[in-house]
This record gives sequence, structure tokens and C-alpha cells, in this order.
Amino acid sequence: MTEQNIDYDVVVCGGGPAGSIAARQSAQLGLRTLVLEKDAFPRFHIGESLLPYMSGLLHELGLLDHVKREGHPVKTGAEFSDTTGKFHRVSFTDQGEGRFHTTFQVDRARFDQFLLDAAVDAGARAVTQANITDIDLQDDDTPHAVHYTAPDGEHVVRAKVVIDATGRAGLISAKLGLRKTVQQLKMVALYHHYVGIREENNPGWRGDIQIGNHDDGWVWAIPNAAGMLSVGTVMRRSTLRGADREALFQDHVSRVPRIVQRLGSAQVQGPLRTESDYCYYAEQVAGNRWFLVGDSAAFVDPVFSGGVYLAMVTGRQAGVEAAAIVNGSERTEECADRFTRLYKTGYDTYFRLVQGFYEYNFDFGAFKADLPDEVDARSVSLLLGGDFWGHANTFASELRKVERWRIFEPFDVYYGCPAYPELELAERTALAERNGSIVGATS
Ligand SMILES: Cc1cc2nc3c(=O)[nH]c(=O)nc-3n(C[C@H](O)[C@H](O)[C@H](O)COP(=O)(O)OP(=O)(O)OC[C@H]3O[C@@H](n4cnc5c(N)ncnc54)[C@H](O)[C@@H]3O)c2cc1C
Repeated sequence: MTEQNIDYDVVVCGGGPAGSIAARQSAQLGLRTLVLEKDAFPRFHIGESLLPYMSGLLHELGLLDHVKREGHPVKTGAEFSDTTGKFHRVSFTDQGEGRFHTTFQVDRARFDQFLLDAAVDAGARAVTQANITDIDLQDDDTPHAVHYTAPDGEHVVRAKVVIDATGRAGLISAKLGLRKTVQQLKMVALYHHYVGIREENNPGWRGDIQIGNHDDGWVWAIPNAAGMLSVGTVMRRSTLRGADREALFQDHVSRVPRIVQRLGSAQVQGPLRTESDYCYYAEQVAGNRWFLVGDSAAFVDPVFSGGVYLAMVTGRQAGVEAAAIVNGSERTEECADRFTRLYKTGYDTYFRLVQGFYEYNFDFGAFKADLPDEVDARSVSLLLGGDFWGHANTFASELRKVERWRIFEPFDVYYGCPAYPELELAERTALAERNGSIVGATS
């Protein structure tokens, strides 16, 4: 590939969390990086509750202090309740020493703007209101071409590496026909934002996400800004068919007394929004100098708030792989293989967690009570926190044994925690010593 033929080392398609972190990582590693985003920022996006491992990841990325200063509501746990008001709380302190015990509920408009700005600060060029219309991928070593339309006209840019971070639009997945629906997780969400929330009405812990289960699905309540609550109901698609959406939303919320209590006399702000059919995956997530990151390749039901974390971890890894390809330090196939293992390990673990929850009819307490004795309470807390790549996690190991929860074809699991790399390695080493085996390098 001659230098005259390329405009950028890497073009990142989409400026959500996955794209911004991919672009930031690429730029930090010295690549000429362009990120193209369809919308004008800041823009509304659903996905407001973050995992505690996100604090570890933001710390690794050098971004935690800034996010803290932004004043997002602090989250210290997750509450699971039912229609009788019975509840079970997972506290992030149960993760034990060495991990952050708090994370954030965020207004995604602000959070995503901050991440995109961080990519620009690292040297990436960002163009918003740039609607990508086509991505021409090449099988040989000629540059890929990305076509987009911006307010000033149509453009084509050529790059060595393309990272698709277009979220649920999934441009490459759509073009190559890679996306498969997870039939057992065909769900729909209806949600509102409420204002006028008063903390004294909250029967639980300030800042917590609440998840309420009932016969037809589950309801979330997320305090995503001061005085505000995002409330959504998730149900099987068949439940929504032909129904009055607003009435159905109100009916589901009214079934969860602890969420009703927290709402008090708050008022709805804005329209009722809908997200539908949202669990899918792609078996192929990387190819010849291209990577699919975040939602562009897979989307898992949001009940455990893992989407943004998975998006940022996979985005960052794609940036690392892009640099290895551009610098010629590793073969393209090796980069694609390592990325694929990391991507699939994260999403597969999260898919399994959600499938278990669904099998227990959205009752996490019942699911947890039925786990085998080998699964210790700390592993449960860590996995809910985002410990998707930890070798020592007994809950994750158990989930991986359940054949009916398998989504991807069999693959080699990737171990090595993106949020706490040294800690995970130490725990993996200790586990290997206990088992009398040798620690394998996985990354
Ligand atoms: C109902 C619901 C609730 C959720 N709740 C949570 C939660 O509480 N916590 C959590 O972590 N996750 C949650 N999620 C998931 C979360 O929203 C996503 O996993 C996350 O946003 C993925 O980030 P991403 O960067 O991959 O994609 P996105 O954030 O969707 O970003 C993709 C970007 O690509 C851009 N784009 C798309 N097409 C084009 C194009 N043609 N040209 C240029 N740009 C394009 C889009 O404008 C967008 O900005 C929820 C999801 C849903 C549906």
C-alpha cells in the first residue's frame, strides 16, 4: 500500500463510546486517525448506567478524574426487586479490595461528547454530521474506502484500517450480512425520562439503579442526573403487539412498588421512546484490516448495564490492533484473531449472564440462589461489576459450561482484564499455583 493512496491510517466509523475510544487509542499510538459521526454532538442516546469496572477502565485510560469532575450521579450498587416489594441489593463493595466500589449514572449526551473530545485531544480528527453511505473493504493490501455525505458535500477517504463503530446501524455487518438475531432475546423497551425526582422518596440507596421484575418482563429506574430518573420497561415483543404503548408502560411500572415509590409525583419529560428487537451478534467481528466494535457487531439486553463498558473495551482493543497492523509489528491475521477472542469473550460472558436471568423469569435472586456451591458471592459481585475477562471468576466459569447459552461458535477464551490488568494477572497466577498449573499468556 503506497502512502500516496491513503488519507488516514485508520478511519473510525461512528463517534459513540466505542468509536471515540478506538479513535483516541489509535491517535495516542501515533496513527493518523479520522472519526466520522452522523449526528451533530451532543446528541441524545440511551444507555445511562455504567458498571463499576468502568471506573477501573477510565482510570487506566487517564479519564477518571475528569469524569468525576463532571458531577454525574455516583452509583454504589444495584437493587433487584419484585412486585411484592421484596428486594435484593448488590453492593459494589462486595468486589473486595483493589477495585473501585463506585461508578456513574450518566447523561449520555454529555458523556459521549466528552469521549469524542478526548479523541480529538489525543490528535484524532473528528467530523460530525458526516453520514457514512458505504464502506468498501478490500481483501488484498489496497486501501479501504469510506464514503460519506457531510453538509459540504460527498467525500471519499481511504485508509489502511477501518473500525466500524456505527452501533446498531452496523454498517459492515449489514453490508456483509453478518448479523444474526438471538431468537430467545427478542425484546422491546419503552422508556420515559422523569423530572422532579425527590431523593426522600427513594426507598433504596442514592444513585443505585433499580431493576424490578414482574411476570411480563423487567423495569429499570436510573437516576441519570440530579432530580431526574430514566424509567424503562423491557418485554417480549409479543407483549407489545397491538397494545397502547403509554398504557402498557404505565401498567408495567405500576407493578414494581419500589420504583413507584421512588418516582413519587415526578413528571414525565419528553416523549415515550421505543427500542426494539435488540439482541443480535456477528460470528465474524474482524477481517482483513477491519474491526467491528461495540454494538456494531453484537448487542445484549441491557439489564446488567454492560453495553458502554463492552463498547469501550472493544473500541480500545481495535485501536491497539490498528497500530500493530499499521506499524507492521504483527501480522493482520494475528491481530484479527486476538481481537476476535477478546470481543467474543466479553460479549459471550455477558450474553450468558442475561440468558440465565431470563431463564429465571427476570428474577436475579432466584438465579443466584440456584448457583452451584463453587460459585462464591464475590465472583457474582465481580461479574456483575464487569469481570468478563477474569480467569479466577467462578461465576463466569460456571456460565461458560452451559451449552444452551452458547451464542458464538466455540472459540478460545481471552483472559486479561482491561480495567485491572495487574490485579487480574496476580489472581490468575495465584489460581494457577493453587491448581498446580502454569499461567498462559493470553494477550
Ligand atoms: C433500552 C436500552 C437501554 C440501555 N441501557 C444501558 C445502560 O444502562 N448501560 C449501558 O452500559 N448500556 C446500555 N445500553 C446499551 C448502550 O446504549 C450501547 O451498548 C452503547 O451505546 C454502545 O456504544 P457504541 O459506541 O457501540 O454505539 P453507539 O453509542 O450507538 O454509537 C454509534 C454511533 O454511530 C453513529 N452512526 C450510526 N450510523 C452512522 C453512519 N451511517 N455514519 C456515521 N455515523 C453513524 C451513531 O450516530 C452513533 O453516535 C442500553 C441500550 C438500550 C437499547
